[in-house]
Amino acid sequence: MTGWKLRDPHEKAKYLSISSAKVYGQCPLSWKKQYLEKGGPAFVQTPAMLLGSAMHEVMQCLNKWRVQSGAFPTGDDLGLLIERGLRQLTPAQRLLHMTFSQKCLHQYLNHPVSIEQPVFVEKPFLMESGSGLMLYGIIDLSTPTGVWDYKFTSSRASATEYTPQLHLYSWAYHLITGQFPEHSGLLNFLKPTGNLQEISITPDPKNVGQTLDKLEEVHAKIQERQFDPKPGSNCKQCNFADTCEASTTPKT
Ligand code: SF4
Repeated sequence: MTGWKLRDPHEKAKYLSISSAKVYGQCPLSWKKQYLEKGGPAFVQTPAMLLGSAMHEVMQCLNKWRVQSGAFPTGDDLGLLIERGLRQLTPAQRLLHMTFSQKCLHQYLNHPVSIEQPVFVEKPFLMESGSGLMLYGIIDLSTPTGVWDYKFTSSRASATEYTPQLHLYSWAYHLITGQFPEHSGLLNFLKPTGNLQEISITPDPKNVGQTLDKLEEVHAKIQERQFDPKPGSNCKQCNFADTCEASTTPKT
């Protein structure tokens, strides 16, 4: 875990994400087609993505307001903050997301994390290892004791699957502040109730190091241009199954 440094997060750098490393682990050829050749389907913003970014905006408005005012919001403040957060949406979309926003904020303000004063909000980071591995992300919220990510989904997140992401945020927090956070966590607001699922860990530097080592391995294989197909059950969900010679699925 030596040789790491922070870079300007606004640089247009080629970085690896936990999700793209996962795609590489499932099938290196699929990774090449998706991330190197950009051969996947055209990007389309789904209603779920729209809701996610609108809700991130609402949470960002709340946390920035708390940083500036140093206060805890009242009912009137919350109404204004929700309006501000949803202002980019059409009136129909705003109406659709208003109740969910209210439920999420209610849940959030009853959670212990909300008592802590935010330190940084929506902070992007780009970090580079000694070998040239670049990792990028956005910290949704940091407090004096922790680093937190928000999600707005209709299903519970898996702690096992999410832990590498929490290690990544812990490492970014360490590079930014010089220390590991006491907690690194996910607050998953479930649709349509806004009920809150919390996943949090106390980051252990050894485990964080293991996650970084795995990402380094993927980075090294990409640098060596190791893109062999890995056919298997993952071919069923693969966007390239129709044209891939190695696919295990019948051609249509
Ligand atoms: S169809 Fe299967 S082998 Fe081919 S790229 Fe997709 S996952 Fe890999």
